[in-house]
Amino acid sequence: MQQFWLEVSLKTPLLIGDRTADASYIIGREVIPGVALRGALAEFLALSGRQAEIPTIPQRYRFAPLLPAQPDRLSYPCPLSAISCKHNKEHGPWDTLILFGIWHHWQQQYNAHFVGPLMLDCPRCGERTDRYGAAVITRKENRWEKVEVNRYAQTKVAISRARRAAYEGMLYSVSAVSPNGIAYYGPVWCANEDDFYTLCEALEAVGLGALRRRGFGIVKVSKTTVYQQDKTLQERLRDFNRMVAEVWRSLHALLESGSVDEQPDGVYFSITLASPAILANRQGLPTLKLNLDWADLVFWVTRQTQVKGWHEGWGLPKKTEQAAAAGSAYLFRSSLPQNETIKNLEEMESTGVGLMKNAGFGHVIACHPFHLEVMSCVR
Ligand SMILES: [Zn+2]
Repeated sequence: MQQFWLEVSLKTPLLIGDRTADASYIIGREVIPGVALRGALAEFLALSGRQAEIPTIPQRYRFAPLLPAQPDRLSYPCPLSAISCKHNKEHGPWDTLILFGIWHHWQQQYNAHFVGPLMLDCPRCGERTDRYGAAVITRKENRWEKVEVNRYAQTKVAISRARRAAYEGMLYSVSAVSPNGIAYYGPVWCANEDDFYTLCEALEAVGLGALRRRGFGIVKVSKTTVYQQDKTLQERLRDFNRMVAEVWRSLHALLESGSVDEQPDGVYFSITLASPAILANRQGLPTLKLNLDWADLVFWVTRQTQVKGWHEGWGLPKKTEQAAAAGSAYLFRSSLPQNETIKNLEEMESTGVGLMKNAGFGHVIACHPFHLEVMSCVR
């Protein structure tokens, strides 16, 4: 399949909710999941007399989430390993994956003991740090910041589907993403260019998200090259290993006992989930750990979430699955030569990990550049 990048700009507010939401207050999500794109495509095919093509979608498309950003700016999912100062919002954010990962690896692999615990207080004011609460981040002049979306709130009258009239006394409020100053970006894989333009046409024709009959979710779609703002995978892997080597050196100063190599003991890389991943172990049992048969998992930061699949053919939800949340970050060590490691990482970035990959689950970023934001106090 060929990779294309989508730019989706909003003409009206966008409400991406839970399909099963049954609440009087609906807060729309900030990210457009791949399954929403797939649903819009299926709806378009059905409406234009092309139902027979719906079962071919998994062979012709692979979806990934679209993330909000300022127009023409590349944004990233925020890793769950991100922390920031509890006291001052201007301090941070920093990432902990490499530092905690190598610290943990030394204890496991080399029976290392350190002179004290790893305290990550704010290097600027000395206050405590806390998890950095952002879903999407972007880099602005060498500093990472949260992508803020404006909200559009509205109270609506609930409509009875059966009677096509207002429910007496039934009101609900929605908090949608406002179209001002924001666009959505992300990759999509298509069998060919025609399929890509069919998807663009579909999104513009049927819209995205909920409340479309009431004017929400009207979008304009185009092809973009915003991904070129990022470095290549080779460069990211090189930068990642430079940082691992730097942390490796500085941890030697904190080592009390244990015999640790002077240099890193392999090629290190990270895999960060850009969308929830439905993972299974060798026995097919659900797990939050990402296991690869060609590299060793050294350390990970994850959180559990629930996801629902969608059966286009039947138009019915599939069963709820446990998944590792978007932002989950995994540190691996590979003993393979660098070029083979890169080949495997390219493969993972274009196919994803876990189950239901074509619907947009398990989309990953290898060597996410935010993992290089290691606190300077230990470097
Ligand atoms: Zn601080």
